[in-house]
Amino acid sequence: MNTASAAMPLEVDVAIVGGGMVGASLAVALAGSGRRVLVVESVPFGAVAQPSFDERTTALGNASRRIFEGLQLWDRIAPEAAAIRTIHVSEAGRFGFARLSARDQGIEAFGYVVSNRCIGAALWRRLGTLPELTLQAPARIEELAATAECVRFTVATESGQLVPVRAQLLVAADGANSQLRAAAGIEAEVVDYEQVAVVATVSTDRAHDGQAFERFTDSGPLAVLPRHDGALAVIWACRPPRAQRLLDATEEEYLAELQAQFGWRAGRFLRAGRRGSYPLKLTRAKAGVAVRTVLIGNAAQALHPVAGQGFNLGLRDAAMLAEVIAGTAGDAGGPAALSRFIEWRARDRRGVIGFTDGLVRLFGDSRPGAALLRNLGLLLFDLAPPAKRALARVSAGFGGPTPRLARGLPLRHV
Ligand SMILES: Cc1cc2nc3c(=O)[nH]c(=O)nc-3n(C[C@H](O)[C@H](O)[C@H](O)COP(=O)(O)OP(=O)(O)OC[C@H]3O[C@@H](n4cnc5c(N)ncnc54)[C@H](O)[C@@H]3O)c2cc1C
Repeated sequence: MNTASAAMPLEVDVAIVGGGMVGASLAVALAGSGRRVLVVESVPFGAVAQPSFDERTTALGNASRRIFEGLQLWDRIAPEAAAIRTIHVSEAGRFGFARLSARDQGIEAFGYVVSNRCIGAALWRRLGTLPELTLQAPARIEELAATAECVRFTVATESGQLVPVRAQLLVAADGANSQLRAAAGIEAEVVDYEQVAVVATVSTDRAHDGQAFERFTDSGPLAVLPRHDGALAVIWACRPPRAQRLLDATEEEYLAELQAQFGWRAGRFLRAGRRGSYPLKLTRAKAGVAVRTVLIGNAAQALHPVAGQGFNLGLRDAAMLAEVIAGTAGDAGGPAALSRFIEWRARDRRGVIGFTDGLVRLFGDSRPGAALLRNLGLLLFDLAPPAKRALARVSAGFGGPTPRLARGLPLRHV
């Protein structure tokens, strides 16, 4: 890893702004491509404060596992990953439910629950070893100008250094409120679900045996996921006033409320760790590229976590962009490469966004008859093996070309 000096202008092929889970994954994927890569991150290198690598857990699908295997990161992540072997879907106060078993689908697991901290630590450790990478953190970019020839900007470091940069391609991986998206003149469509996710780690008196639960309650979906340390990760999406009550409640009150909504299928809840909260919105960029600029991860689409798809989708963005760059001779940021990327990612992105948004709306619909339809749907789903097989495949993406890394294949460099 290099650090840029203030005096010399920096020439890079790819400048990634945002070193969160998606941006850092792209930087690792580009290692060995021969491309000069710059990562600019606003929060100090590996800091506890970095929002992408906080207390949350992420359910990684099988395609994400294969991508991390291809990036030689899985060995570091696996010891702290809990396999999801069964999924139980139900609705509070209703009779319908569905069970999915990985074994019945002929797979080892539907996915793996890992803390964001663990993913972050694996990524940052690797970034620190890459010779063709320049890392600027904490830093921000200023005076951005993209032309048909190149992108120029200045990196302003916390110590007051100003580093002029010239890049072929600018990658916006700076999250849902992407400043680069705005700077590129790309608007975003925002749907406020008027829900807040309250997350906590909860211990119980029963072994989880790799069971994950998705329970739809009156105020929003409640996910209970197995953790590698035997505890459960609870992600409870609810209306803001209720979320505030859950955040303000004592540990005892929170556990009692959780037990009342979730029931006893995971045993008796004993202890709850620190609670965190995330307002939930769908933020979708109206365009995926601008001149020599491409949006990936949450900067392109930030989703409700109900189906655990946001990072998985963003990681496939990173894997596909690395594949396009590896397969492009010369200029990494020309219109042909960017069009190829957008075309290859369109179906998967559309499918995942539609599926996730549809799920939030379906289970949030309080019109008469909607609950009955949902229950019938869950029951029929429980009885229909093809539907289960279709859902089990969701983790590979929703169509369009699957990135080579997600298929377990190495990148092909031209
Ligand atoms: C409660 C919850 C649970 C979730 N669970 C799952 C799950 O189980 N499975 C799943 O797939 N997804 C899940 N997600 C979604 C997942 O967390 C996101 O999709 C993922 O974090 C997106 O990563 P990112 O790197 O694109 O963006 P971010 O995580 O937002 O990272 C952006 C990075 O850019 C940096 N940055 C921001 N602005 C600038 C700037 N101007 N200059 C430089 N750097 C900047 C930030 O410091 C940060 O490091 C969940 C989300 C929530 C809220």
